[in-house]
Amino acid sequence: MDIRVGHGYDVHALADGLKLVLGGVEIEHTKGCVAHSDGDVAIHAICDALLGALALGDIGKLFPDTSEEFRGIDSRILLRRVVDLVASRGYTVSNVDCTIAMQRPKLRPHIDAMRKALASTMGIECGRVSVKATTTERMGFEGREEGVSAHAVVLVYR
Ligand code: MG
Repeated sequence: MDIRVGHGYDVHALADGLKLVLGGVEIEHTKGCVAHSDGDVAIHAICDALLGALALGDIGKLFPDTSEEFRGIDSRILLRRVVDLVASRGYTVSNVDCTIAMQRPKLRPHIDAMRKALASTMGIECGRVSVKATTTERMGFEGREEGVSAHAVVLVYR
């Protein structure tokens, strides 16, 4: 069996009055991510982890932010395309583990909805998708509520 691991990391700035979408779920908040797409950092980190596992580049290479096609796009569409690319190479996603760093709002009430949204987008069981959230104890850009970051690790096999 050929087993591969990949890591992804993404950051977006936060600004007042924008929609906040994380892990495929819209979350009520006063701020949202500044982005060419819907700014879903969690999905972007997962896409990069999947692409990294197969050494296929990164999300910016696949979906350039200069392209009108991707303006305001639902990141679940991007994730589905990346999963299809992984499948086209003969690989199956074993599991995903994602951590979102954000000071506010508390993400715990939204974790299961994110896991469900991600699992259904990727076509895998919910038990294979982990989403975790942490604050950064008010330190750094996440702690100052200037931005949100996400890390993801995935394992794929064929
Ligand atoms: Mg991004």
